[in-house]
Amino acid sequence: MSDTVRKNVLVFRELPPDQLARLKAQHKVTVANPRVPEQAARFRDALATTEGMIGSSYAIDEGLLASAPRLRVISSVSVGVDNYALPALAKRGIMLCHTPGVLTETTADTIFSLIMASSRRLVELANLVRDGHWQRNIGEDLFGWDVHGKTLGILGFGRIGQALARRAALGFGMPVLYHNRHPIDAAKELPELIGKITHTPMEELLQRADIVAVVLPLSDETRGLMGPREFGLMKPGAIFVNGARGAIVQEEALLQALNHGTLRAAGLDVFATEPLPLNSPLRTHPKVTAFPHIGSATFETRHAMAVLATTNLLQALAGERPLAMFDLSVV
Ligand code: NAP
Repeated sequence: MSDTVRKNVLVFRELPPDQLARLKAQHKVTVANPRVPEQAARFRDALATTEGMIGSSYAIDEGLLASAPRLRVISSVSVGVDNYALPALAKRGIMLCHTPGVLTETTADTIFSLIMASSRRLVELANLVRDGHWQRNIGEDLFGWDVHGKTLGILGFGRIGQALARRAALGFGMPVLYHNRHPIDAAKELPELIGKITHTPMEELLQRADIVAVVLPLSDETRGLMGPREFGLMKPGAIFVNGARGAIVQEEALLQALNHGTLRAAGLDVFATEPLPLNSPLRTHPKVTAFPHIGSATFETRHAMAVLATTNLLQALAGERPLAMFDLSVV
């Protein structure tokens, strides 16, 4: 390919070798991870000429965009787009691509694992065996709480929320209450769940669900959505699970609910600050099961995400419509 067609591409988080090779076959590629101190200067320098970027888990804010005057497309290796200054992208006409769909089932598996782990105290009890404390049959003080048959409340009912509902309703006999802004037509969109899911206002969902799971995007509307009032509305003995983004939860309010309220447990894959600071009380809290943001972290799914993100970027740079473009007209 001639140099006039080859574009400057900046890879800001490691890509698998086969996908990096696809990019290098067509474009001039700089790999620079701004989180790695030795690569930060190369990342900043590359911005001046970059036309396409691909990566994830790094805040691309207005200031950074101002350093990238030739940027035409960002391809995020994630479905969530909360790391990007969406209004600034829209204003500049920079295209944003993401990876919906390919991570749905894996993320729903992770969230269901959090539900199981929190209810049945799986991590705590596995650690008890590992630490040599299994000296006699366990007593009531270490009993768990059944998952099957419990009412699950799902905040956010898109791809992942619906995949979670299928697991809960069809696999575990759980009635599902869900909350989003536009109720779905179950007959058309989820016929297998007719009679098993109910659109419910958020306040009522919090009051009725035994287990509340957050699967919302992080936006101006959902930032800090779960605060003292919301945790206070939850049923005594209920479980709270967050598989979406940490900033949707006011962590101090969650801690208060765990320490002084009636929350049974919390299962968390995501945190306001990641990696979770060593001094965070959530890290060692006896009622918390914490995962290191592993929603989509399987070999198969991370590779599928990289393939889709690379395809999106190649298509956009070729002037074609990418497979998965985020609609910036709604921001
Ligand atoms: P999606 O298909 O876009 O679903 C989002 C759902 O949230 C929709 O039902 C939407 O319905 C609802 N919603 C949006 N804003 C709302 C609001 N203000 N109030 C109430 N409901 C609202 O997205 P998805 O693919 O399921 O992914 C959801 C989120 O999961 C992502 O944005 C990402 O942050 C997170 N995620 C986390 C991991 C992880 O590693 N833990 C992995 C993948 C994804 P309405 O528009 O009708 O309200």
